[in-house]
Amino acid sequence: MECPYVTDGYRNNLSYQQCLMSMFQLHNETVNIWTHFLPAVLCLPLAWYDITVSVPGIHGNRADYVTMAIFHLSCLIIFWASVYFHVFNAQGCRCVYEQCLGVDLWGIGVATCCYAVVYINYAFCCSLWWQIFYLSWIGCLITWYSVIWLHPRMVSSWLPMERRLLAYAPLFVVLMGALFLHPLILNRHWPNNLAQIFALHWMQPFAILVFGVVVFSLKIPERWWPGLFNIWGHSHQWWHIIIVVLQLFLRRGTINSIQMELHTMC
Ligand SMILES: [Zn+2]
Repeated sequence: MECPYVTDGYRNNLSYQQCLMSMFQLHNETVNIWTHFLPAVLCLPLAWYDITVSVPGIHGNRADYVTMAIFHLSCLIIFWASVYFHVFNAQGCRCVYEQCLGVDLWGIGVATCCYAVVYINYAFCCSLWWQIFYLSWIGCLITWYSVIWLHPRMVSSWLPMERRLLAYAPLFVVLMGALFLHPLILNRHWPNNLAQIFALHWMQPFAILVFGVVVFSLKIPERWWPGLFNIWGHSHQWWHIIIVVLQLFLRRGTINSIQMELHTMC
C-alpha cells in the first residue's frame, strides 16, 4: 500500500513472474528487497562458520550448538519472509498484499520468539523449571502467530490487520518484560554483577530495535521531504538496515553468553 511521503516508483498489477523479474529493476521496493535478500543468502555461510568455527572455538557445549542453530534459523526466517513480502506485494489486489504482509509479520513474530528461545537458554540456565515454563509460553506464542498470520481463514475481511496486531502485542510486551526482569532477580547471586552485565548485553539489540521502530513509524526522513527519497533512503530501507545490524548484535549477544559459561554459576 502507498505511503503518502513516497510519491513515485510503485509497481502495480504485476504477475508472479513479473514480480520476480522486478527484483532487477529500479523502483521504490528494490532496496527493500536487496537489503534483506543479500543477508538471507549470506546467513548460510555465516551459520556454517559459527557452527564449525565460532562455537567450537569458545568451547561451546551441545546446548550452545543448538541455540546457535536456532539463532541462524531465525535470521533465515525473518529475511526470507521479508523478501517474499517485498517481491510479491505488487500484484494489485489488497487481499494478496495482505497475505504477503501476513508472511512478513509472521516472520518477524516467529523470529523474535526464536531469539527469545536463545536468550531463555542462557538467562534461565540455572533453572530447568523456568526454562520449560518460558519455552512453553514461546511455543504457544509461535502457534498463535502462525494461526493469526498464516491461516487462510484469517483474511482481512474477517479480521483486519490492526486487530490481528492488537491480538498479540500486549501478550508479547508482558512476556518480554518478564523475560528481562525475572533473570535479574533469579540470578542475583551470580558474582561480579554478572546478571546485570548479561542483561546489558541483551539490552543493546533491544535499544536498536526501539530506534528502528521510531524511524519506521515516524517515516523518517521522507516525512520531511516528501518525494525526495522515493527510490533511495526512505524509512523502510533504514528499517531493513537496522534489522540487519540488530541480527549482528544478537549474534554477538549469543557468542558473549556462550563465553560467559553461565552454567558454571549455578
Ligand atoms: Zn520490509
